[in-house]
Amino acid sequence: MDMSYFDAMEAKIPHGKIRTRFAPSPTGYMHVGNLRTALYTWLIARNGGGTFILRIEDTDQGRLVEGATDVIYRTLAECGLTHDEGPDVGGPVAPYIQSERRDTYGKYARLLVEKGHAYYCFCEKTESGEDSGDFHRAADPCRSLSPGEAQARADAGEPYVIRQKIPESGTTTFHDAIFGDITVDNSTLDDQVLLKRDGLPTYNFANVIDDHLMGITHVVRGSEYLSSAPKYNLLYEGFGWEVPTYVHCSPVMRDQHNKMSKRHGDPSYEDLKEQGYLTEAILNYVALLGWSPRGEQAEREVFSLSELAQAFDIEGISKSPAIFDLEKLTHFNALYLRAMTPEAFHAVAEPCIRQTVKNPALDTRAIAALLQARCERLTEIPEKVAFFEALPPYEKDLFTNRKSRTSEEVSRRMLESVVPALEELSDWTQESIHDCLVHLAEKLEVKNATLMWPVRIAAAGQAVTPGGAVEICRILGREECLWRLRLGLEMLSV
Ligand code: GLU
Repeated sequence: MDMSYFDAMEAKIPHGKIRTRFAPSPTGYMHVGNLRTALYTWLIARNGGGTFILRIEDTDQGRLVEGATDVIYRTLAECGLTHDEGPDVGGPVAPYIQSERRDTYGKYARLLVEKGHAYYCFCEKTESGEDSGDFHRAADPCRSLSPGEAQARADAGEPYVIRQKIPESGTTTFHDAIFGDITVDNSTLDDQVLLKRDGLPTYNFANVIDDHLMGITHVVRGSEYLSSAPKYNLLYEGFGWEVPTYVHCSPVMRDQHNKMSKRHGDPSYEDLKEQGYLTEAILNYVALLGWSPRGEQAEREVFSLSELAQAFDIEGISKSPAIFDLEKLTHFNALYLRAMTPEAFHAVAEPCIRQTVKNPALDTRAIAALLQARCERLTEIPEKVAFFEALPPYEKDLFTNRKSRTSEEVSRRMLESVVPALEELSDWTQESIHDCLVHLAEKLEVKNATLMWPVRIAAAGQAVTPGGAVEICRILGREECLWRLRLGLEMLSV
């Protein structure tokens, strides 16, 4: 066999640095487990000053979804998980899309036949029989076809697959960075298909070829692939290649017994964004789903992406499955919202405010300032601030509040004094409104709360508001505010 193609491929492989890859299949969404795999993969590369590669695994043509690769690019970019090599940016071992590497797999499958670790199989077998574990290798007549005979049938156009030739006896041991050494009897491994009838590789074959040819040093993926790892090892050995470090991560669960799944309604990354969670908070939370910092950082919860890149280590990844807890994520989200600069918070809050507050005279910056410390998710915002746009209908019993010592009668008296006092104000600022109301309370010999309560109820039409009476009056503007206060007074006067 002419080896020049293989030698040339071998010569392209970069060496000497950590190289990791995120290898999603384009499904059209990024589930939480996948995002975590991407994050850990990126972190291992960045922590070790290595290279992070994006590879698109689209060989399962039946599962292709229109626009699905865009979701992958968009998510990685939004999350700041920048890739150094990939379909869009190129790199020394391009192409990075499996469907564009089709010829390569065929060549390597034939090389493996030549090396005696794979064989042409002409039998008709159902896929389900493959997975059931119900196989009897000795019974496959193709396993013992002579190379010449097999080649002749293939050359004559008979459809075939190429299968891995698993040793009949003995054991295979592989090492995983999280799970340690695992040994299996070869008799439990099936002669899996490497190359399908259509010439496309199976995932199990393509990932080995690509990981080798792309010089991947650490293979990070879900633990569902753990049971296939002995077969991967046999492939690496069959080719005479070095086995990469395996890092199999336990699943992200929705509860004790079930994995998170889009089909069962569990949120994907996009869903979480839509539910008002910030990318940074999602990433921080997802990082801690299955990894914990150690040493001095052990108690720490809040990490930016670059802090994670500093602190991350494979040893901190847990063997046990992690349970996704939306409340915990909400807690992180609130922390992140509070820690933002007012400008940054305004930038994310403004579109949500504008969903209900359409009047351009209403200042979104001032409204955002009220919300920042009082909101856990961005999606709460439209409802919380709708009263600025239009006074909601309300009952006059809202004016009665024990803690503020108000009754309808007291509230009426307060508003009777407040309206003319505010009408008199020459400027409409936070300070002037505040001073005016506080002086008035003093003059009337009531607690501030007794005066502020009816003002806030009349101005907002609801008991719970972001911000107090002064802030709300100021944002509403003189005319709208006085109109609302007079209306409250009228309600109380009948
Ligand atoms: N394409 C596989 C998936 O999306 C990737 C598995 C791997 O990283 O090896 O699950």
